[in-house]
Amino acid sequence: MSYLTLKDINKIYPNGYHAVHNFNMEIEKGEFIVFVGPSGCGKSTTLRMIAGLEEISNGEFLIDGKRANELGPREREIAMVFQSYALYPQMTVFDNIAFGLTLQGVDEDVIEEKVKNTARILGLTDYLDRLPRALSGGQRQRVAIGRAIIRKVGVFLMDEPLSNLDAKQRVTMRSEIAQIHRETGATTIYVTHDQTEAMTLADRIVVMKEGYVQQIGTPYELYFKPANVFVAGFIGEPPMNFVRGTVKDGKIPFGGNSLDITKKLGAKAAQYEGKPIVFAFRPEAIELGAVEGAYQITAAVELTEMLGDNTNVYITAGEDKAILKIDPHDTPEVDTDITFSVPVENVYIFDGETELVIE
Ligand code: ADP
Repeated sequence: MSYLTLKDINKIYPNGYHAVHNFNMEIEKGEFIVFVGPSGCGKSTTLRMIAGLEEISNGEFLIDGKRANELGPREREIAMVFQSYALYPQMTVFDNIAFGLTLQGVDEDVIEEKVKNTARILGLTDYLDRLPRALSGGQRQRVAIGRAIIRKVGVFLMDEPLSNLDAKQRVTMRSEIAQIHRETGATTIYVTHDQTEAMTLADRIVVMKEGYVQQIGTPYELYFKPANVFVAGFIGEPPMNFVRGTVKDGKIPFGGNSLDITKKLGAKAAQYEGKPIVFAFRPEAIELGAVEGAYQITAAVELTEMLGDNTNVYITAGEDKAILKIDPHDTPEVDTDITFSVPVENVYIFDGETELVIE
């Protein structure tokens, strides 16, 4: 039996807005789950229903196999870390971390031991006497996490916990959160709109769009086996290239190039004759030059961005555009033509109507 079960969970707000549709998932103990998707897709709403902060309109939420819909936030043994740190400014780091236990009337010796242990995990041992204003943003966020993890709850919920930090602090805190998860082993559900955070932290990712779950899978599955155009475009940076076209004689055009979909789909290609499809490949999944057996494409170089470890090459072919990610030593001149190849196994073809991958 799974630890957490979400069965056909729906949220309809009092104003009639249907924010989450039939969310289904089983979560195992100790998993690090990330909900990712654009702003407004229903991530926080789902998290808040799990926390007990928002009523579940339809469906069932189970903890350890027992219905939990009617349990209040405290009865669920769940701790939540919010976007804003919400620390008490007049209290030291020690007192901030200890706050929940102090309220519960836990013995002082026990509190001291627990706070010290939590501070050690979070690298805050030297800061216990400080007030929050004398801490960096990252340190404050660690105190907020400390306040949550000191209570030995079953589940941690984090809603965009890094969004108030600058880019560099975010990268540092990201690895710290992964480290904290390894040390505590606590089941964690983490909300973000940032696909990099999702990819680096998650055991499994839930991609959402407009209230619907698009796909649930490991970072590897989402990157290599996206279920639809949305997931394919959301995971990966720069995003996957999409060439839309209507199949004629088993082919679609990409500028002056002709992409033969039978090469990828075999006999199945015939079903798509006269229909719209999306031919897709990742910027990094190409080789320069014309490779035998691969899709060979020639296009004009519009712009190059040398980033050090790679160069992004923006190409145009007729009306179509794409981005290639290549070795900086191979950076082409702008306004010249470039020929590259996409190995057949690196190509994805989606149904242009349903947007689902064609396998
Ligand atoms: P996310 O966390 O993915 O950014 P939310 O779960 O916060 O998205 O919101 C999902 C959708 O529900 C949004 O369109 C939002 O405007 C709407 N929404 C959120 N809270 C309420 C509410 N109290 N009443 C009505 N609609 C809401």
